[in-house]
Amino acid sequence: MRAEHERQLIAPGPSARVALSVVIPLYNERTVLPLLYERLSQVLKPLAIRYELVLVDDGSRDDSGLYLLELAASHPEVKAVRLSRNFGKEAALTAGLDLSVGEAVVVLDADLQDPPELIEQMLAAFHSGSDIVCMKRRSRAGESWHKRLSAHLFYRLLNILSHIEIPADTGDFRLMSRRAVDALKQLPERNRYMKGLFAWVGYPTHVIEYDRDERAAGNTKWNALKLFGLAFEGITSFSVTPLRWATVMGLLGALVGLTFGFWIVVDALLHGNPVGGYPSLIAVITFLGGVQLLSIGVVGEYVGKTYFETKQRPLYVLRDVVQSPLAPADSSAADQDSTHAPAP
Ligand code: UDP
Ligand code: MG
Repeated sequence: MRAEHERQLIAPGPSARVALSVVIPLYNERTVLPLLYERLSQVLKPLAIRYELVLVDDGSRDDSGLYLLELAASHPEVKAVRLSRNFGKEAALTAGLDLSVGEAVVVLDADLQDPPELIEQMLAAFHSGSDIVCMKRRSRAGESWHKRLSAHLFYRLLNILSHIEIPADTGDFRLMSRRAVDALKQLPERNRYMKGLFAWVGYPTHVIEYDRDERAAGNTKWNALKLFGLAFEGITSFSVTPLRWATVMGLLGALVGLTFGFWIVVDALLHGNPVGGYPSLIAVITFLGGVQLLSIGVVGEYVGKTYFETKQRPLYVLRDVVQSPLAPADSSAADQDSTHAPAP
């Protein structure tokens, strides 16, 4: 398998101005890849622009990576990127953005939940002056009610807590101009809550509503625990309000404790001191203990974040980047003629 693919690290050719990059992070998506390529080609070829597909294999355990190499071998518009292991979607996405060269960059999921057919509409908004085109989900087909509810609550909470506005119900599906991508690339943080980072960049933003499809094949990589982790990440990356809450709660707890203590002293002076008071004592102790533990936990979360940031580790490690050179006759903008995709 190895030797058949001519590998080369690609630097964008001098003459080549790529109008559009489509960046797709993928993990164990072998079953959808043929369909994904098919749908993307159907949409993008008629646009008659020079485009590239930056497909980032996030250390898949199935043979998604090999399929990408095969695809890249026969299709010059495909840039196959493999990471050295599974780094998580946010890192894979960052790798894809770093390697993209297009004037406009569209990010979408491999599972076809984000319909590629909308790209044309997104490009239209881009050409009429928006640097960022956000895709807002009108519906979420095939997702359970508790996922929808928790997502809804999460976005509301996040917007209350953080100072930048992170648009509700938008995922990573979006278009960004080259300068927006370049701005994003300058954000050095390790803890990457991409939706927040996208919003932080700013720039004129256009919102398009769409209906989110069901997964075309394969399984979701998310479970409740991972989603909770992501939500926590989102909140603590973009807001220190929880720290303030910890302070306020501690203060309130202390005030209640103080008042209660004062009342007990007065009560004992007025009515003597029977042995009672044990239950209230325990109540106060557990309450204050709880407040303290919570506050320490919140502080710890931020300390931990600082710890990881100070290590300055790279976000991802590349295994290889493969792209076939354009055939000389093929280098004009419009005709990215290609043979057929490798057998599904
Ligand atoms: N993904 C990835 N790395 C991971 C997990 C997921 O690159 O560790 C990709 C996955 O292949 C898909 C996208 O991220 O293209 C969204 O994942 P998924 O569809 O599982 O999430 P959901 O749509 O259920 O939120
Ligand atoms: Mg999905």
